[in-house]
Amino acid sequence: MKILVINCGSSSLKYQLIDMENEQCVALGLVERIATKKSILTQKVDGKKYIIEEPMENHTDAIRVVLGALVDHEHGVIKDLSEIGAVGHRVVHGGEKYANSVILNDEVMKGLEECTKLAPLHNPANIIGINACKALMPNTKMVAVFDTAFHQTIPEVAYIYPLPYRLYTDHSVRKYGFHGTSHKYVSDKAAEMMGKDIKKLKLITCHLGNGASISAIQNGKSVETSMGFTPLEGMAMGTRCGSIDPAIVIYMMKELKLTVDEVDNLMNKESGLLGISGVSSDFRDVNSAATNDGNQRAQLAIDIFCYKAKKFIGAYAAVMGGVDAIIFTAGLGENSSRIREGVCAGLEFLGAVLDKSKNNVSGIEAEVNTDDSKTKILVIPTNEELVIARDTMALIK
Ligand code: ADP
Repeated sequence: MKILVINCGSSSLKYQLIDMENEQCVALGLVERIATKKSILTQKVDGKKYIIEEPMENHTDAIRVVLGALVDHEHGVIKDLSEIGAVGHRVVHGGEKYANSVILNDEVMKGLEECTKLAPLHNPANIIGINACKALMPNTKMVAVFDTAFHQTIPEVAYIYPLPYRLYTDHSVRKYGFHGTSHKYVSDKAAEMMGKDIKKLKLITCHLGNGASISAIQNGKSVETSMGFTPLEGMAMGTRCGSIDPAIVIYMMKELKLTVDEVDNLMNKESGLLGISGVSSDFRDVNSAATNDGNQRAQLAIDIFCYKAKKFIGAYAAVMGGVDAIIFTAGLGENSSRIREGVCAGLEFLGAVLDKSKNNVSGIEAEVNTDDSKTKILVIPTNEELVIARDTMALIK
């Protein structure tokens, strides 16, 4: 059976068609600039690109073009849409209501609407994508897979903020955590690579991309994660500040006279690697400025990024009473030996010793610790789409 995985943003949409016989991606694509006259679809099959440029007024239009590209007799990969057994939708926020993936029906759609207030920037686009797919494929089963669900196992002691308790009971303010499908995929894969039962392992998974989060996974369950009520908490990221003294928000509003939206923008879009370096939110640019131009703020941005990650690793080893493996994934974790070296420097006391020559890898599964390192250090390319497809398959069976 083939499963279509859809990840719908406000003006873009990513998709993958996955053959569940061998769990291989047969086609993947991206639609950008939806609702403009310059909408563009780029589909890749066996590395070959197929581009469609035409105005797509809305997400229904975009999904119609996606389905057309998949069945295209020259560039497509299936004969007709009946070959798509089900659709798995990535949904950012499932609140406390959804600790697992669910089959989409009217009641769940209502539940998703209720979660929208918790993720006003993301959930509406996810819901639009689901509705667009339902309109075009009314008889195909659909499943929602949540970014938050994997972290619903985090204990109360970790998810309650030290605010008045009514913020939790009356307003759902608590830690939720994100990137759940990624943390789940790499922790399962780590256990497989180590040849051990995940139920007996203490893992720290570092999803270091433009958005970054670190999780403690004990016995296969998430017990702590660095993102919180929103994806702003935790690590310093490409453009997000991560955890800061909350009083800085009040200071910026009172003294700098910034509005709510300005503060929101500053912390989400102008901070992190971009804010510190003044160069870019993209690590490659920041790294090049630090290495080739001797830009000290770029160097500082990289140092701060690594320092924050190291602090979380230390804290999460304390949370679990040890750590068997540290896993690096996402754009930076998978590809940057410099970031892995910076994060692991000084973690020898935890038994984690990086082998600098083995660490010289990019984008492949690898063990990069020394032979005598007690704690494994693993590089594992993430595959969030496969987790969505697997959950979808399991639910519709
Ligand atoms: P997101 O999915 O959150 O947008 P990604 O996981 O794609 O982010 O990660 C993007 C980050 O990874 C960027 O900072 C980018 O510079 C970095 N990155 C991607 N490829 C490489 C590479 N080959 N070497 C170093 N950094 C890389």
